[in-house]
Amino acid sequence: MAGRILVVDDIATNRMILRAKLASSYYDVVQAESGVEALEKTHIFQPDLILLDIVMPDMNGFEVCRKLKGDPKTAHIPVVMVTALIEPGDRLRGLECGADDFLSKPINDLALLSRVRNLLRAKFMFDELRLRDKTTQELGLGEPILDDFDAATLPGRVTLVPTNSKMAQVWEEQLSPHPSVSTKVMLAEHEVIELDSPDIPDVFVIHARLGAFGDGLRLVSHLRSRPRTRHTGVILVVPDGDQEKAAKGLDLGASDYIFDPFDASEMLVRINSQIRRKHISDRLRSNVTDTLRLAVLDPLTGLYNRRYATQHLEKITERARESGKGFALMVLDIDKFKRVNDNYGHNEGDQILKEFSRRIQENLRGVDLVSRIGGEEFLIAMPDTSENEARIASERLRKVIEQTPFPCAAREGGLHITVSIGVTLGDPGEQDVESLICQADKALYASKADGRNMVTLFTSAA
Ligand code: GH3
Ligand code: MG
Ligand code: MG
Repeated sequence: MAGRILVVDDIATNRMILRAKLASSYYDVVQAESGVEALEKTHIFQPDLILLDIVMPDMNGFEVCRKLKGDPKTAHIPVVMVTALIEPGDRLRGLECGADDFLSKPINDLALLSRVRNLLRAKFMFDELRLRDKTTQELGLGEPILDDFDAATLPGRVTLVPTNSKMAQVWEEQLSPHPSVSTKVMLAEHEVIELDSPDIPDVFVIHARLGAFGDGLRLVSHLRSRPRTRHTGVILVVPDGDQEKAAKGLDLGASDYIFDPFDASEMLVRINSQIRRKHISDRLRSNVTDTLRLAVLDPLTGLYNRRYATQHLEKITERARESGKGFALMVLDIDKFKRVNDNYGHNEGDQILKEFSRRIQENLRGVDLVSRIGGEEFLIAMPDTSENEARIASERLRKVIEQTPFPCAAREGGLHITVSIGVTLGDPGEQDVESLICQADKALYASKADGRNMVTLFTSAA
């Protein structure tokens, strides 16, 4: 999951240092030496992330950031300000201009790379959702929903998980003068984990050190692994200067972190930015609502239908061409499915199809597009995926179907089901959607011919 990063600094040595650090982690680095050049290059190269110096002769970083965040074409690109100034006032000013984070010079490698990974992960997820939004609109099925957000006015619910009740009091006092966020304190880790959907907030603020054998990092990874809280913002509060813990927290899925003790206004800006992200992604996710549901979703399995999938694939190939990142395409066909219907009836067959869809979806990322394109045929598009990743994913899907028998009312012990899979890779800049699907179909056919319950990659099938 590499990405393109724009490094902006008026001093060549600083740019070189950052470039070297990033290039060694396989990021594609573009450089700019002034604010004006930064704006130009952002439009030309559409970077996935911008590292922005603050003090520059022509236009300072605050101004550049404000311009980037004020332009709908670039507002979605995360900006990290890199600065020797670490006055709290400057941080606040940067955050108010829309910056997503700060790094101070000299740059700590761990802080840099964990932050970059975290912001890129969020950005790619968000890009995919935006793309779906566009597809829905092109099908004439939805209103654009990304345009009308005013960051300052969004109300939100925040659950605070501090170390003890004394800290709880301090946190609540710091946040209470701000009516737009309503806070609630929870001190027991297990209570947070057991929260029911209506009680799940927009944002959790969690201290890394929890009382009574609690562990903030463990809690973060719990929240991330559960569907109900997967999309909730999580701000981790880490003991001052503990960069390692912060990095680990981000890698486990925290959306942001802040050092303890924190400045109330900085915390507030960070909370607001998480609330805003949460609202946008909720709305993107629910854009496919009732009437639209019928047109783009398959009623039996809840997966996207063929019409939506082919339209969306056009978008994915277009974007691969722009970004230079490859994607994978899979076609799945359940083996000998006709027998299931013949032996146990059409109703049982339907139940198997539902369970099949559930397993497949559970074992893919949120950005992967899963669709039912025929009776027992499925198509999956995996953006930003290498050959090796595609192999691993398809093999995982095959196993997850084969390993556990499917529940079946008419047969004790359940039914043994298998699936055949054909995989192909979409090179950026090459084939059209039709020929890609055709390749995956050929590979699928090879899997069937070679005995079923297997995965074939197009190159080896050819
Ligand atoms: P193969 O391993 O070659 O794929 O064999 P198969 O039996 O799966 O393939 P075939 O294409 O011959 O049969 C597919 C069967 O899937 C035919 C049909 O009865 C069943 N089927 C298609 N759509 C549905 C559906 O919506 N519900 C149910 N219950 N069955 C369906
Ligand atoms: Mg079939
Ligand atoms: Mg079949």
